Amino acid sequence: MPEGSRNDGLSETEVVCDVLVAGAGPAGLAAAWRAANEGLNVAVVDDNPSPGGQIWRGEQSEPTSREAQVWFQRIQSANIRFIPGARIFQQSEPGKLLAETTRGAIELRYTNLVLATGARERFLPFPGWTLPNVMGAGGLQALVKTGLAISGKKVVMAGSGPLLLAVAAYLREHGANVLLIAEQSSRSRLLKFGLALLNERSKRRHAIEFRRRLNSIRYLTGCWPIAAHAGEKLTSVTLQRGSKRWQVECDYLACGFHLVPNLELAELLGCKIENGAVTVDEFQQTSVPHVYAAGETTGIGGLELSLVEGEVAGLVAANKRDEAQKLFSVRSKQRGFARILNETFALRDELRDLVASETIVCRCEDVTFARLKQHDSWRTAKLQTRCGMGPCQGRVCGPAVEYLFGWHVQSVRPPVFPIRVESLISQR
Ligand SMILES: Cc1cc2nc3c(=O)[nH]c(=O)nc-3n(C[C@H](O)[C@H](O)[C@H](O)COP(=O)(O)OP(=O)(O)OC[C@H]3O[C@@H](n4cnc5c(N)ncnc54)[C@H](O)[C@@H]3O)c2cc1C
Repeated sequence: MPEGSRNDGLSETEVVCDVLVAGAGPAGLAAAWRAANEGLNVAVVDDNPSPGGQIWRGEQSEPTSREAQVWFQRIQSANIRFIPGARIFQQSEPGKLLAETTRGAIELRYTNLVLATGARERFLPFPGWTLPNVMGAGGLQALVKTGLAISGKKVVMAGSGPLLLAVAAYLREHGANVLLIAEQSSRSRLLKFGLALLNERSKRRHAIEFRRRLNSIRYLTGCWPIAAHAGEKLTSVTLQRGSKRWQVECDYLACGFHLVPNLELAELLGCKIENGAVTVDEFQQTSVPHVYAAGETTGIGGLELSLVEGEVAGLVAANKRDEAQKLFSVRSKQRGFARILNETFALRDELRDLVASETIVCRCEDVTFARLKQHDSWRTAKLQTRCGMGPCQGRVCGPAVEYLFGWHVQSVRPPVFPIRVESLISQR
């Protein structure tokens, strides 16, 4: 955490605060800053060692964008307690959460809670998607950030969404030979998206910047992977575009189909979920009293929307509704953009045909598509096949089966993440 804020050594096992923020991504940082500026005692918990969330993690000493720099400076100047490396896994009673740290479990007591737990990549199964070196786009980026040597490696990016572009630019700057980006969305949808970008100055700037950084990398719309092939390691990927199919040799396939909100904590607390996102009112209030939600847990919308939702949630948690209302028009504009974003990168029906009978869908429990097909709901599939019951608890296969079968996947139970037995015992 930046110096001004307190980066916790965590000598105690209990933290008491006015506002607890779960997640130190843009939404969480914005909420914490606003609430702390109102003089409240604010703590931010994140399961990573450094703040910034998916986009700014590890950048606090050297922010790569003006926006990140501004926000890290704001956080530094505010009195915020940052608790890194702490993953919230359980609610012991309303107003009390439990988080696991390397030093054991801690109890977090709050008056108001802001859920800012972000989103994750969506994966769709296809033959070969579980092979080594086939990974999420964000996953590969994270590995490179932590030292994976990518220089000179041939990378195919595939799936859907702006994350493919961000990661392609990042990998190229780290020496990767990014061969192409296969985007499943159609050219006409992308044109509409491009027009929406042009209407907004900051997004227009980002778009131009990406164009420069990605210069000469082929961007194929209406194109997706249908199989990955390997000997001892990944050797190639077969792509499809219209009726054409061809194979591309590569070292890595970085593949993700847009994003899905992280809902575990919200579900655990009993917050209403609709259309795959936490439901909030105009003040970012969830259906549970004293619990607010902001950022991509409330729906995929990009950085600016996460920030403004975080600010609104922080102000409301500090009882500053009038101030919060002043941000509604900015938020409304960003929500308009989010709608277009999600329409643009909605999954096409053909992607349901990628999976073959013997393709593994639940990779934790090795459950194939053929086995899942025999069931008519997530619940019976879980009971009969153990699908979604492994270490990831359905975080990977859940969104995939939702898309493949239209099942309603909502079955969170504590602990929401695998934790040490020692931490479980400490709940007593
Ligand atoms: C893998 C990935 C990579 C991305 N990379 C980029 C990029 O390069 N460029 C870009 O423009 N956009 C990127 N995005 C999109 C970007 O994250 C969003 O646009 C936006 O910034 C989301 O902000 P947020 O605060 O809502 O969530 P996030 O930034 O996701 O922050 C949420 C934080 O909450 C933490 N958390 C979740 N659950 C718990 C828990 N139980 N206990 C403790 N902590 C928890 C998470 O670890 C995370 O640090 C990426 C998204 C993903 C999923």
